Amino acid sequence: MSKSKGYAASKAQEPLAPLTFERREPREHDVVIDIKYCGICHSDIHQARNEWSDYQEECIFPMVPGHEIAGVVKAVGGKVTKYKVGNKVGVGCFVDSCRTCAECKRGLEQYCSVATVWTYNARDKEGQPTYGGYSDRIVVDENYVLRMPENLPLDACAPLLCAGITLYSPLRHWQAGPGKKVAIVGLGGLGHMGVKLAHAMGAEVTVLSQSLKKQADAKRLGADHFHATQDPETFTKLKNSFDLIINTVAAKIDWNQYLNLLKIDGTMVLVGLPEKDVPVGAFALTAQRRSLAGSQIGGIGETQEMLDFCAKHGVSCDIEVIPIQKVNEAYERVLKSDVRYRFVIDMSTL
Ligand code: NAP
Ligand code: ZN
Ligand code: ZN
Repeated sequence: MSKSKGYAASKAQEPLAPLTFERREPREHDVVIDIKYCGICHSDIHQARNEWSDYQEECIFPMVPGHEIAGVVKAVGGKVTKYKVGNKVGVGCFVDSCRTCAECKRGLEQYCSVATVWTYNARDKEGQPTYGGYSDRIVVDENYVLRMPENLPLDACAPLLCAGITLYSPLRHWQAGPGKKVAIVGLGGLGHMGVKLAHAMGAEVTVLSQSLKKQADAKRLGADHFHATQDPETFTKLKNSFDLIINTVAAKIDWNQYLNLLKIDGTMVLVGLPEKDVPVGAFALTAQRRSLAGSQIGGIGETQEMLDFCAKHGVSCDIEVIPIQKVNEAYERVLKSDVRYRFVIDMSTL
């Protein structure tokens, strides 16, 4: 074991504070990564505050959050073939999976039917707690490490590892592209990547945001249309309009209202994860043979495909870089939707 430094929540609802903890010694297939940047995902807040207790087993404290990890390879185990010291690499929401189930074999490790090993707030195959990216270093099996775009800034690419792939995967699965009308609900960390990626795929993109405050930003990011959901007319004007809606909102909103915006055979995909159940009426679905679906990040192969797509199309995230000492303040600002559009921690400040 070797010592690592980071920021952690000592228990639910506690502000994050410095922590020294142990990481495993690298094994034959491990890559040791010097973490340069880590994005702040809304899921970090949900977990550090134990907000998913209705759906999740107990949280593991102390918890070092962070699953949008970008860094540089510092050392490699003897049998590593994919990476060399000095490579720019990333780690997303998970660091291992069973590797043998049908889902793992299809490259859907995030849906591993045995156990996906999450980057933090989980236990690895030896039963040891995992610790995330608000830290100086991480040790990860090479098969769960990603290659970062060479032509884009590393800090602005860190959030691709969760926000980017979480939108890329459903956009691809439900075939966003030319001729498709796609709506993104909520212009936050996930939502702004949804706009950029759907636009790069050639879809006609609409943003549904609470107010008109982010309208100019949305247009700059690639949105064709923008509507405020505070205005009740939005829901009458846009009835039966979209092929695909991706809902990134973490709060409890009326999903039925949004389902009514889908045209025949349209699908609304939930990626936002509210703390409590949200009621759905059958009529909102039957009326136009609509579907309600969900999606969770993406597999390793698809995450690499997304990073390569971003490199090719020059897509990265709009970020505000902060020193780690401001992490608790950043959490409060995320909760107020006051982030343009992702906080990224500069780990040299640790
Ligand atoms: P975020 O940056 O906070 O963005 C969420 C956006 O939702 C806000 O910017 C805001 O956009 C809108 N919003 C917030 N409160 C609202 C309310 N009361 N009513 C309506 N809209 C509201 O969060 P994020 O990091 O993008 O994450 C969003 C959700 O996705 C979280 O629940 C997170 O845990 C989840 N998530 C899921 C996955 C997955 O794999 N499925 C992966 C990562 C994250 P406007 O200002 O434009 O209204
Ligand atoms: Zn995330
Ligand atoms: Zn598996």
